[in-house]
Amino acid sequence: MIVAKFGGTSVGDATAIRRTAGIVKARLDRHPVVVVSALAGTTNALIAAAEQASGGHLVAAIAQVEALRERHLQTARELIGSGADAEDVAAEISMLFDELAHLAEALSVLGYLTPRSLDTISAMGEQLSAPIVAATFRRLGIDAVLVDARRVLITDATFGKAEPQDDLIAAAASEHLLPLVNAGKVPILGGFMGATKDGVTTTLGRGGSDYSAALFGAALDAEAIEIWTDVDGMLTADPRVIPEAQLIEHIRFDEAAELASFGAKVLHPNTIAPAVKRGIPVFVCNSMRPDGNGTRITFDAPTFPVRAIAGKGNTVIVKVRSPRMLGMPGALRAIFDVFARHKTSVDVVTTSEVSVSLTVDDDQHLEAVVAELRAFGDVGLERGKGIVAVVGAGLGGSAPAMAKAIAAVGETRLHMLSLSATGINLTMIVDADQVKPVMRRLHDAFFGPQRA
Ligand code: ADP
Ligand code: ASP
Ligand code: MG
Repeated sequence: MIVAKFGGTSVGDATAIRRTAGIVKARLDRHPVVVVSALAGTTNALIAAAEQASGGHLVAAIAQVEALRERHLQTARELIGSGADAEDVAAEISMLFDELAHLAEALSVLGYLTPRSLDTISAMGEQLSAPIVAATFRRLGIDAVLVDARRVLITDATFGKAEPQDDLIAAAASEHLLPLVNAGKVPILGGFMGATKDGVTTTLGRGGSDYSAALFGAALDAEAIEIWTDVDGMLTADPRVIPEAQLIEHIRFDEAAELASFGAKVLHPNTIAPAVKRGIPVFVCNSMRPDGNGTRITFDAPTFPVRAIAGKGNTVIVKVRSPRMLGMPGALRAIFDVFARHKTSVDVVTTSEVSVSLTVDDDQHLEAVVAELRAFGDVGLERGKGIVAVVGAGLGGSAPAMAKAIAAVGETRLHMLSLSATGINLTMIVDADQVKPVMRRLHDAFFGPQRA
């Protein structure tokens, strides 16, 4: 059995959805379970509508909702035509949009948006795409069955970034997915969304459909997890920054996880962990060119000093200075506890005897974090920073590669510099507007023509 996940552009319109059906058909002998994202752009539009409605712009929100309704109905008509299945899907779409319009009205009256209501709305994209894909597949001769992902992907109630409950997911997958697969059917699930034990809709965070696929793959002990997207695989850098970035044919789990965490949007950062737990290979492939090899992610790829460069902006540095406390046992633990209590993850850390610098890119709870950190000493925030990561399993052991990386940074101001304990990731904090130029110079240094 395999899990195949198709991202937004892979189900972006009727042509893309038909292409997706072709890919699944070619894999029927491997018993696919299919996970789909929302139609490209839908999640952004849903979030924008929710924000407009709660911000008092109901007319604009409803216009947005109606444009989405028309797009989904039109795509469904084009793919499914007429007949009982087509009527069912059209009814399902209309019902969801009526609910959405009501929610928009309610939000405009309330005048505020909670993480819980935002999840209810942003999860609708996948509730819309999945029935369209399932009905299209049936029409094209695949024995597809729609399964509401919220019955399987059980999470806690951390709205916006819910924590999956592995044991409950495993039990639900055995109950709702395995019998279908064993009967030769192809389950179709929306990605990104889940629900609490009590059935309240949650989401895994933006880009979370990859994570859904990995969670289903682990729960079912799949033989492979395939992530179908709009590029040839994992590349040596983000192709939007470095257009000539090259395909990586085979990469280690730990390298892929570092890249995903530091800006390689092609994989949601949490995707790798469930696959590692079960040793399930992950493949990243281009749905527009299904014959390519894509990228294979496993434990045992060959070791290179540098495999790829990643980068991201929106980084905030939190600096805590405390001549008194930091040398004392337990001080760092106490500081990290503050971040943990406020569910804020720290990306990079550097320390000295009297100070510690940490970076975060989720500033939702930062005010509360800073208020508590003041108990330890002076706290400073530096916004407008970004991270560049040089990733390769052989990096820490290669003095020449390290020297080359540092040289490529040139005279760009470094705010923090850290080599991971595994020696696999050299992270540098620079001003946000320097992320792309530094990525460019690093990519030229390691993958450019002068490499030879
Ligand atoms: P999907 O909708 O299929 O999930 P995403 O937009 O989430 O697709 O992710 C694919 C995009 O990730 C690519 O189009 C590319 O612009 C971006 N990306 C960033 N870094 C990398 C990288 N190292 N390799 C491949 N793609 C990358
Ligand atoms: N549709 C969701 C998003 O845009 C999840 C995903 O596509 O992975 O964030
Ligand atoms: Mg994605």
